[in-house]
Amino acid sequence: MQLSNIKVPAEQVSFLQAVRQGLGQQQGLFFPTSWPKLDIEALLAMPMVERSAAILKALIGDELSAAEVGEMVAKAFTFAAPLAPVTDDISCLELFHGPTLAFKDFGGRFMAQALAKAQGGRKTTIVTATSGDTGAAVAHAFYKQPGVQVVILFPKGKISPLQEKLFTTLGENITTLAVEGDFDQCQALVKQVFDHKALVEKLSINSANSINISRLFAQICYYFEAVAQVPAEKRSQVVIAVPSGNFGNLTAGLIAKALGLPIKRMVAATNVNDTVPRYWRSGQWQPKPTVATLSNAMDVAAPNNWPRVEALLAQGMIARSDIETSMVDEDDTVLGVRLLSQLGYVSEPHAAVAYKALKRSLQDGEYGIFLGTAHPAKFKEQVENILGTPLALPEALARCAAEQGLSIDIPADFAVLQQELLKLEQR
Ligand SMILES: *Cc1c(COP(=O)(O)O)cnc(C)c1O
Repeated sequence: MQLSNIKVPAEQVSFLQAVRQGLGQQQGLFFPTSWPKLDIEALLAMPMVERSAAILKALIGDELSAAEVGEMVAKAFTFAAPLAPVTDDISCLELFHGPTLAFKDFGGRFMAQALAKAQGGRKTTIVTATSGDTGAAVAHAFYKQPGVQVVILFPKGKISPLQEKLFTTLGENITTLAVEGDFDQCQALVKQVFDHKALVEKLSINSANSINISRLFAQICYYFEAVAQVPAEKRSQVVIAVPSGNFGNLTAGLIAKALGLPIKRMVAATNVNDTVPRYWRSGQWQPKPTVATLSNAMDVAAPNNWPRVEALLAQGMIARSDIETSMVDEDDTVLGVRLLSQLGYVSEPHAAVAYKALKRSLQDGEYGIFLGTAHPAKFKEQVENILGTPLALPEALARCAAEQGLSIDIPADFAVLQQELLKLEQR
């Protein structure tokens, strides 16, 4: 597969090169210039791991063999993505049954496999910013992997204590930096790192954000798994709502649709950080300062995957009418968690944002799916506050919660970050 840099189309790379590089020149995102033809019916009849391997092999092309891709997928996708019914015509695609209880395990774990192939045994340092779940997924996916150092930046005090414990307690090859600032500042620091060519070269730095194409490809697979679980007579009526921050998840769903998966339309749901819904209405791209919300993994004012949505539109692979956008404010988020609980489904703020947006959009006869991006226990405090009832911790979280966090505090200052990175060279 050929991918090209969206900003600098002349820069063309293979899949493994794109995985290795993360970003292209001028911080451009890599994106395929053409797409494979898939036999959708045949794919929907397969079990998840086999189907995902077939999809990823078709996307990657000849650079890896079917056996190699099959092995990578079998190692990465070691947990299910069940469709949990909430009402007769609405269900939740539960993407939180992986080791860190969030959907980012899918992308993170496949990326770890892809990067191992791309590096071919050479040392590498992964630098990534997280608004919550990416950090944990990346940390766990690369934990103790030989030749890999992982550095994770997160906004100090702005993610849930439990979420923080999931990646700051590991130690070993995982370094975590608590940045005095918000997520956009963390993301800006990471971009500065990638702009520093000498540093990137010296430490062989790679990113593991949702900008890495391998993460995006992996995420396409669970949209197929969702539709495969929808009763056949309803498959032509599927509407999917995605709680969105950096819009990687939504982009993956749009790619699935572009590849022929029957999805009537995608609903992009945001919290009050609503740059995209405002842009969709007005045509003006006007990010505002980030606001802290209950669905904090979506507190992103400048979503970094959006250019890929524009690329799909420009390629004619999707139409504007395939996308609906919806902003769900804090009161409505709380209401969403409560309504779901009344229906017998315990959820958390991110999924609740998607649920509320789905409810607004869904017409008679349609079948709605909202994505459950995190286990409710990851947002224990918020959920307990909203529902007024205690929530039990799954075992993996309870173990982490009892451990000591090991992160280092730094200001939002590139010079300080650079010093921390250079210390790792000694390891
Ligand atoms: C990352 C995250 C999101 C947002 O996903 P994007 O791909 O960045 O849009 C939503 N919910 C949870 C729980 C997340 O961790």
